[in-house]
Amino acid sequence: MPIEKIWVLAEHADGGPSSTTLELLTEARSMGTTVEAVAWGPATSELAGTFGDYGASTVYDVGDIGDALPGVSVAAAAAALITSGNAPDVFLLPATFDGRDIAGRLSARLDIPVLTNVVGLAVDGDTVLSQHANFGGTQVATARFTGGRPWLFVVRPKTFAAEPAGSGPAQVQAAAVPSDLGALNTAKVLERHVEERTGPKLDEAAVVVAGGRGIGSADDFAMVEELAKLLNGAAGATRAIVDAGWVPFSYQVGQTGKTVKPTLYIACGISGATQHLVGMKDAKSIVAINKDQDAPIFSISDLGIVGDVHQVVPKLIEALKARG
Ligand SMILES: Cc1cc2nc3c(=O)[nH]c(=O)nc-3n(C[C@H](O)[C@H](O)[C@H](O)COP(=O)(O)OP(=O)(O)OC[C@H]3O[C@@H](n4cnc5c(N)ncnc54)[C@H](O)[C@@H]3O)c2cc1C
Repeated sequence: MPIEKIWVLAEHADGGPSSTTLELLTEARSMGTTVEAVAWGPATSELAGTFGDYGASTVYDVGDIGDALPGVSVAAAAAALITSGNAPDVFLLPATFDGRDIAGRLSARLDIPVLTNVVGLAVDGDTVLSQHANFGGTQVATARFTGGRPWLFVVRPKTFAAEPAGSGPAQVQAAAVPSDLGALNTAKVLERHVEERTGPKLDEAAVVVAGGRGIGSADDFAMVEELAKLLNGAAGATRAIVDAGWVPFSYQVGQTGKTVKPTLYIACGISGATQHLVGMKDAKSIVAINKDQDAPIFSISDLGIVGDVHQVVPKLIEALKARG
C-alpha cells in the first residue's frame, strides 16, 4: 500500500511556528501526497496560512487546552481522530519536550510502536526507512516498521531544511479532546519561564560561538557572548560548562542539548566529545580554537587555531571592533 497521508505535529508559539515544524512539513511533502498538521493553542487558526504555505492541506486544531499538559490532551485528540478512521500512514513528531510526550502517550493509547531520535527518512516503496544516530552520532542505524500503520517517527530538529511550497492556506478542522481523560489530565502547567535573550535564537542563528571548559571560568564566558554579538550570532556551550553552572541549560549544544546548523560555528576551548559533535557537526564551516593540537574538535574543523582562547578570542573581538 503506497504511503499517502503524512501528519506533522505542528508546534507554535508567539504567533509563529517552530522551525522544526516547518522542517517536518517540508519533508512530509516529499514523502506522501497529502500533508496534514495537528496543532493546539488558541492561535492555531491564525497560522493556517503558514502551515498551508509549507504544504499542509488541513490543520486539525485541538484548540485552547488552557493550562493542561499538551501531551495528555493532544495525544488523546489525535488518537480519537485515528481510531475514528482518519488515520495517516505516517505521523512525524518533533523531538521536543511536548513532541516526545505526545508520541509516547499516543503509542500507549494506540498500542503501536514509535521510532525515536530519527536523523533521516527515506520512502522505499511501500515502506519508510528511518535513520537513528547512536553512540553520539558515531554510528547510524537504519530501521523500519514491520507492523501496521500509522507509523510514528520522532525526528530531531535540523534533520531537514525548511522550504515553503507556496500553496494556499490549510483548512482548519476542529479535533475534539475526549472528555473522559479523568486523572490523566490533572497535571497542570503552573508557570512558564521564558529565558531572556537578545539576538538570534541559538538553534536558528547563522553564526554560533560556543564555549567549553577551556574558557576557564563563568566570567570568561563574557568573551564568547561578546564575539557572538559582534558576529550577529548566538552563544552556545558544552555540557561541561552547563553542568558547572557557568551558563543555563538553554545554551547547551549536543546530544542532550540543542542541534544547530549554522553557517559558521566557532568552538572556543571545546575538546570535541562525540556528544557535543552530534549537535553541531553539520555546521557549514567550523572554526576551532584549542591549545591542544590533538583535540578531537580539529578532526571536523575547517579551520583550526592552536592557541589559548584568552589570547585568540580577544584578538578576534579587537579585529571585529576595528572593522566597525
Ligand atoms: C549521555 C551523555 C550526554 C552528553 N551530552 C552532551 C551534550 O549534549 N553536549 C556536550 O557538549 N556534551 C555532552 N556530554 C559531555 C561530553 O561527553 C563532554 O564531557 C563535554 O562535551 C566536554 O566539554 P568541554 O569540551 O567543554 O570540556 P573538556 O572535554 O574538558 O575540554 C576542554 C578543552 O579545552 C581545551 N583548553 C583548555 N584550556 C584552554 C585554553 N586556555 N585555550 C584553548 N583551549 C583550552 C582543552 O585542550 C580541551 O580540549 C554528554 C555526555 C554523556 C555521557
